[in-house]
This record gives sequence, structure tokens and C-alpha cells, in this order.
Amino acid sequence: MRLTRSQALFETACKVIPGGVNSPVRAFRSVGGTPPFLVRGEGAYLEDVDGNRYIDYVGSWGPMLFGHADPDVVQAVQEAATRSLSFGAPTEIEVRLAELICALVPSIEMVRLVNSGTEATMSAVRLARAYTGRSKIIKFEGHYHGHADFFLIAAGSGALTLGQPNSPGVTPAAAQDTLLARFNDLAHVTQLVEAYADEIAAIILEPVAGNMGCVPPEPGFLEGVRALCDRYGIVLIFDEVMTGFRVARGGAQERYGVRPDLTTLGKIIGGGLPVGAYGGRREIMEWVAPQGPVYQAGTLSGNPLAMHAGYAVLRKIADTPDLYDRLEAFGAALEEGVRANLKALGLELYFTRVGAMATLFFTGERVVDYETARRCDTQRFARYFHAMLEEGIYLPPSQFEAFFFSTAHGERELERTLSAQRRALMRAFSDGA
Ligand SMILES: *Cc1c(COP(=O)(O)O)cnc(C)c1O
Repeated sequence: MRLTRSQALFETACKVIPGGVNSPVRAFRSVGGTPPFLVRGEGAYLEDVDGNRYIDYVGSWGPMLFGHADPDVVQAVQEAATRSLSFGAPTEIEVRLAELICALVPSIEMVRLVNSGTEATMSAVRLARAYTGRSKIIKFEGHYHGHADFFLIAAGSGALTLGQPNSPGVTPAAAQDTLLARFNDLAHVTQLVEAYADEIAAIILEPVAGNMGCVPPEPGFLEGVRALCDRYGIVLIFDEVMTGFRVARGGAQERYGVRPDLTTLGKIIGGGLPVGAYGGRREIMEWVAPQGPVYQAGTLSGNPLAMHAGYAVLRKIADTPDLYDRLEAFGAALEEGVRANLKALGLELYFTRVGAMATLFFTGERVVDYETARRCDTQRFARYFHAMLEEGIYLPPSQFEAFFFSTAHGERELERTLSAQRRALMRAFSDGA
């Protein structure tokens, strides 16, 4: 068999990079096959090394709110590059980006810029621990906060289960201060908090879960967690690395009207370059070095290219009044089309969408937490995924990743996507099923 260029590259990649990729999900392990190697993107479209074109629903896992190679973002980066790639010293653009973040997300009174979402969440937890003088944190099953050791904890069964590491290399000591709760189960969170009241520094969550597929919060859940944090002096951290500037201009906290103490950001605020941020109440942020005692630093933090890319994106977000209405309109039309496809084919699959993120779950049941998400038929999803890819639709290669769209997705992309989906669903649910 003749290899495609992607297949040949992947073979070579596997010899020099573990699994052939620099981040696991890219390797297509959960759907099988070889990932296309990409060469360019423009607007809603991607092109691979074999000349195939796709409509993109990954958007670099979130950052591409305005589509690929947005001219304003590209120009900002090009101009910045001619003035040096890095100083390791203060620049004006860091101040402007920080001001804009504080303006767009009112709960953020001060912000520290870092290089990734992982760094942001890791630092936010350190800060919460220092501020409260407590050690334990609560995280939710199926929520992803980057790859710091104490977040890599598997789902334990039963209430009050102490965390077990789910990656070799994470020590029991690193895991022991992480308590696991069930998303959308306020009674369970309450039980945990009451059992460990004086020991819990922070509750961290994705206000709309996106890393087990898109799972919205049930009405009252976020409010309930906020109230618990207030009662027990716990720092509430919303990890909005994915939802920030995606589900609303002010993130999930604006959409649901719940104000966290700290917020972590990433993805969109870098416009495709490596940027993360954590910020929140001034009284807490003043604990961060050098103003306060909590150490956190970065050689390339506030890097000029990254700051200019992020600023260009946030400027457009701030200056486009109908931005979220447009995303919502596309999302609503897509949702309607997906539901019509399912109905026409007599399929009962569970579809969720919040703003510009969504998931088609291959289960007929409502998905509200990790447990219900895991009941999906992932083999069927894999067939659907490959059928879509052959149709020129690039979806996340896992049932448990949300898909994203951008302002570059319009009427034409919508029609092509929906007709491709009809055929792909038919194929996924036919022959030998
Ligand atoms: C992507 C993501 C992270 C990790 O960000 P990286 O930049 O990949 O380190 C953390 N939290 C959430 C909610 C994310 O979606």
C-alpha cells in the first residue's frame, strides 16, 4: 500500500516523538487511524500535507474564535516580531492586555499572565492554598485542569473517596490532597465540604465542562457551590481556560451570573500562541510575588508575540458588539440542523451546546456528569468521526472533547457540515453495527 504523506510523517514521528505527537489526543488513539498532518488554515478551513481540505471544528482546541490566520491577529504578530521576539522585561502590551482582561471579566481585578492553562490552574491552586493556609482541594470527575500532578486523579467510587493517581509518576502524596466530587451533584459536594471543612483551600471546576464533552451546569449548581465556598471560607476557582470568551464575552461566569474568587484563562486569550492567565479578587492576587509571598515566575511570561496576538483577539472581542449574537445564531442553526438529521434518521443521540461549544454524545441518555458521559458508544463515535473526516469535516478525535466553531463559520459551511453529517451518521449506524 502506498502511504499518504501524513502516514509517512506519522511513521517517522513515532520514532522520534512518543506516540508521534506532542499532546496525546492528537494521535487519534481513541478513534484509530492516522492523524492528518496540517500545513495551513484559513478561516474555517484546514489543509493537510496531502492536499485534503476540511471544515475545522477543533479550532486548535479553542483559541481560534475568529478562524485561522485572522488578518488582524497575523498582522499584530508580524509587526511585533520585527521588534524582537522576547525581552524578559516589562512591555506596554502586557499592561494593555491585563487591562482588557479586567474590563471584560469583572471578577478579575488583578491578573498574572503565564504561558499555558496548566500553569494558570497550578498557580491558582498554590495561591488559594497560601491564602487560606489550607491544603486540600476539591475537583470534579471528568474535569480537566491541565497536567499538574495533583490534578491527575482518577475517578474514585463512592462518596468521600480520596484521590488515587491516574498516571504513573504521580505520587500518592501528590494525590492525597485532592478530593473528587461529582459534577452537578450539589449534595455530594456538600458532603465532601462538611467532612473536610477546615482543610479545603479551593474548589476548582469547569463551569461548563468541556473536557468530557460539553456538559452544562444544572440550574442552581454553580450558585450552590458558590454558597458553600462562602460559608466555609473556600476559594472558588472557575477554570475558564476553555469557556472564557467562548460561551459569552465575560465567560461562563457572566452567562450564569456566578462570580468566582479566582479565574483561570488560556486558549482564546493567546489567539493561538501560548498564553494562560489567572486572576481574581485583588485581596487574593496581592499574595502573588513580588507583591506577596507566593512564588510564581516565567522566563517567557508576557512574551511580546503572545501578548500582541492575545490583545488583537480581545480587542476584536471588545469591539464587536454583535459577536456573541452571531456565534449564537450559527450555533442555534447548527443545533437545529443536527436535531433534524437525528430525527430524519430515527436516532436518539444526546446533543449539548453552550454558546460556541457543543458535543454530540453517542448515547440516548442525558449526560450530566462523568458517569453518564462514559456510557457513550465510543466505537460508534469512532466510525462517525472517520466518516466525517472523509467528508471533509474535521472534528475532535474523541467522544470526550467538545467541538468548537468560529465567526468564520457561515451559511456555506453550515450546509456542507449538515449534509456531510447526514451521510456520516448513516454510515456509522449501518453495516455490521
Ligand atoms: C485546555 C485546558 C487546560 C490546560 O491548558 P493548556 O494550555 O493545555 O495547559 C486547563 N483547563 C481547561 C478547562 C482546559 O480546557
